[in-house]
Amino acid sequence: MSATIIDGAALARESRSETADRVAKFRAAHGWAPGLATVLVGDDPASDVYVRRKRKAADAAGFVDFHRHLPGSASETEVAAVLDELAADPAVSGILLQLPLPQGLDRYALVDRIPVGKDVDGLTTTSQGLLARGVRGLRPCTPAGVMGMLDSAGISLDGTEAVVIGRSELVGHPAAELLLARNATVTIAHSHTRDLAEVTRDADILVAAAGIPGLVTAAHVKRGASVIDVGIHRTDSGLTGDVRFSEVAEVAGWITPVPGGVGPMTIAMLLANTITAAENAAELSG
Ligand code: ADP
Repeated sequence: MSATIIDGAALARESRSETADRVAKFRAAHGWAPGLATVLVGDDPASDVYVRRKRKAADAAGFVDFHRHLPGSASETEVAAVLDELAADPAVSGILLQLPLPQGLDRYALVDRIPVGKDVDGLTTTSQGLLARGVRGLRPCTPAGVMGMLDSAGISLDGTEAVVIGRSELVGHPAAELLLARNATVTIAHSHTRDLAEVTRDADILVAAAGIPGLVTAAHVKRGASVIDVGIHRTDSGLTGDVRFSEVAEVAGWITPVPGGVGPMTIAMLLANTITAAENAAELSG
């Protein structure tokens, strides 16, 4: 293997411990600990696991837990009322509406009830606008984790060719924006891209976020490239990503594993956003 592995799990631990320090400082300064509200609608088992993990990590970092679980039959008005209540509560520094929502609920309308200052998932229209504009704001957690991994490895981005596979609203699109903001020349490949390998072979930085197990082979990767695998798939032989790790590791310069890569970083970035939101709010209120 020629590639160096970027250890997301270790990096996430480091980030979470930094966040815990910031939470402790906040608490000492203000006499109360910031709260993270997780809103789960319905009983999707995967969402349930994700929300549990987020709450556990938040608790370990010292945040106060404001969890709301609504039945899958909840109306949009009912979900909106819960979000509005959390939005108005000064003890709640961050609000996360777990997606996907049950059918019949308008996720855009609901996400946009979260005030931009509490939008720790970075998914409101306003947060996405701030990202597109390249100005300060809370960034979506998974792409923020991607950037954190590149930075931790000391990979310079300015002037590089970056290819993002996938244009989803949660991952691919914002990842491309973040790379652009760091002066990479960014290409977004997607399901209509005619020849994926031809595009990705030019990449110094390759972010795989297509949601297709094993999509990226050694033939897709330029020698020495940095390959960040955002995919996560449950298979008979365990968790795997969008990247065929063992063969790609032979050609890449840097690579992230699955599991232990972007996944743990996503939660770490959520916690970092939450303390940032709390600090910003405290600063604004003097
Ligand atoms: P996530 O939000 O986890 O990134 P989605 O399933 O929402 O995943 O989106 C998958 C993205 O990957 C879409 O933007 C789609 O266009 C892209 N994609 C799917 N198949 C391919 C492919 N063969 N090559 C490149 N991009 C692809």
